[in-house]
Amino acid sequence: MQIGAHVSCSGGIHTAVDRAEALGAESVQLFTQSPRMWRPTNHDPANLERFKTRRAEAGLGGVVCHALYLVNLASPDEALYAKSVSALQNTVEVGCAIEADAVVFHVGSHLGAGFEAGLGRVVAALESVLDRCSDTTWLCLENSAGAGGTIGRSFDELAVLFERLGHHPRLGVCLDSCHLFVSGYDVGERDTLDGLLADLDARIGFERLRVLHVNDSKAPLGSNLDRHENIGEGLLGERLGVFLGHPALQGLPALLEVPGREGKGPDAEELRKARELRSRWL
Ligand SMILES: [Zn+2]
Ligand SMILES: [Zn+2]
Repeated sequence: MQIGAHVSCSGGIHTAVDRAEALGAESVQLFTQSPRMWRPTNHDPANLERFKTRRAEAGLGGVVCHALYLVNLASPDEALYAKSVSALQNTVEVGCAIEADAVVFHVGSHLGAGFEAGLGRVVAALESVLDRCSDTTWLCLENSAGAGGTIGRSFDELAVLFERLGHHPRLGVCLDSCHLFVSGYDVGERDTLDGLLADLDARIGFERLRVLHVNDSKAPLGSNLDRHENIGEGLLGERLGVFLGHPALQGLPALLEVPGREGKGPDAEELRKARELRSRWL
């Protein structure tokens, strides 16, 4: 397992590698632009090259780009939908340029229009985005925390997307431990986690699982509230080690998206705690 973190790119996209290295991270996740604005960042091509050089120098494993939080591929609003599709296309372009292993995104919410109506829009959008992926830069659906109208709250919903997209060869999955927990899957129980991974394998294919998000949860099991907590300090607590230490998950980039000591994101102490918990349950 490549334990890593979501880091900032402030100062240029290549600086994400410096921050990951300073934390002792083995993998990294970044936003390719400000996550709360539609306007894409115009990256200096030299910085895209620097990213790749620095990654090799730092011996960094998995590189993951996270799309904007604003993206909603199921939106019934035409303008929002068009902006979402072009934002995700742009993220994939930057991801390919830095040779990222995956672009992770939240599918979105149909905002009350219904799963079937939302699904048609999501499928059309994803077809256009998947065309821009490369053999090595995949598009990964992240399981949602399950709040009202979100698509991707269960394996059934993710499996339907895979089916409708003809099991596209560059389509993958990102599993977030906190989102699973608040969606009602207690990933701190080995039997539950075994069952869930078997289900994933049967419905989607285990090889489609490309990225993990490792977060403890402030909110209770099944609450559908997306509130990340520092490692071992939430309602999963030490049982997060069951997820971290699961033998089937050991080859993957495992990225922390926790608040950290100072609320500025994952720090070296959070990575240390994750490694320590993992080694206890391995
Ligand atoms: Zn996540
Ligand atoms: Zn979350």
